[in-house]
Amino acid sequence: MTINFEGQVAIVTGAGNGLGRSHALALAERGAKVVVNDLGGARDGSGASSDAAMEVVRLIEEKGGEAFAHGANVAKFDEVEDMVKQTMEKWGRLDILINNAGILRDKSFTKMDLADFQLVMDVHLMGTVNCTKAVWNIMREQNYGRIVVTSSSSGMYGNFGQSNYGAAKMAVLGFMNTLVLEGAKNDIRVNALAPTAGTRMTEDLIPAEIYQLMTAESVTAGALALCHKDAPNRMILCAGAGGYASTRLFETNGIFLPQAQQTPENVIAQWKTICDINNQSELETGGKQTEKFLTKAITYVQSE
Ligand code: NAD
Repeated sequence: MTINFEGQVAIVTGAGNGLGRSHALALAERGAKVVVNDLGGARDGSGASSDAAMEVVRLIEEKGGEAFAHGANVAKFDEVEDMVKQTMEKWGRLDILINNAGILRDKSFTKMDLADFQLVMDVHLMGTVNCTKAVWNIMREQNYGRIVVTSSSSGMYGNFGQSNYGAAKMAVLGFMNTLVLEGAKNDIRVNALAPTAGTRMTEDLIPAEIYQLMTAESVTAGALALCHKDAPNRMILCAGAGGYASTRLFETNGIFLPQAQQTPENVIAQWKTICDINNQSELETGGKQTEKFLTKAITYVQSE
C-alpha cells in the first residue's frame, strides 16, 4: 500500500519550522496541495515573520508541488477564517487539517503568571478549536475530512514546569473524543499525534548526541498515517526517534457499594479492587460509564 494525497488539499499549522514543516513537505511530496500556515514567532510565541513559511513554500514549489503561505495566528479565529476562505477560493476543497502550531512558556506553577497559562491555552487548545471550527462545515458538506490534533506526553503523563502546556495538550484529546462521535456520519476522522523530536522547541532539553536520532521525519511518518483515506479514528499515536506506540484510556470494572455502605472508609477499603486492571475496558462515550454504574446498581436493587 502506498499512501498518496493526489487531488487533496491540506492545511498544516505551524508549518514554518520543526514538525509542521516536515509534515507539509511530506504531504506535498505525496501529491497534496498544502497551505503552509505559520505566524513565524519565537518559541515563546513572541514576534512574527513570514520568512520560514515562505521558505517551505519555495521548497515545495521547487519539487513541482503546489503550496501557499498564510500567516494566520491560530489563536485568532478571524485570521484562521481568512486562511480557510483563501484555501477554498484557490483550490475549492479541504481534506486534511493538521493542528500542529505551538509555543512553550515553561515555569513551575508556583512561578507561572496566569498570562503565560492563558497564552499557551490560547495557542494550543483554542488554536486547534479555531482551525477545526473553520474547516468543520466544509468537511461535513463534502462528507470527508481528516483532522490531526497534536498532543504530548507532557499532557498525558505530566512534565515539571509544563502545567499550562500539559493542560492544553490533554485538552485537545478531550476535544478529539467528542469530534470523533460528531464527525462519524460525515466520514470525518480525528486522531492525535503525541510526538517527541529534536526541534527548536526541544533543542535545549535534548542532549546533542541523541538529537540526531529524533528526527521530525520519523514523527511525520506517523502524522501521515493518521490523515490518509483509510486513516484510523480516535487513535493517539505516539511517535519519536523511529518508535511508534499508542496511548489508550481504559477504565477498570470497579465495584458497587449499596447505599448504606457508601462511605469514604469503604471506598478506601476497596482501592485494590477499584484499581484492578483485569476486566478493564475502553469506553466509546462518557455515557457508557453511567450505563456501567447503573447496571451494577439496578442489578443490586433487583436482587434485594
Ligand atoms: P517548533 O517551535 O519547531 O514549531 C512550531 C511552529 O508553530 C513554529 O514555526 C511557530 O512559528 C508556529 N506557531 C507558534 N504559534 C503559532 C500561532 N499562534 N499561529 C500559527 N503558528 C504558530 O515546534 P515543534 O517541536 O515542531 O512542535 C510542533 C508541535 O508538536 C507543537 O504543537 C508541539 O507542542 C508539539 N510537540 C512537540 C514535541 C517535540 O518533541 N518537538 C513534543 C510534544 C509535542
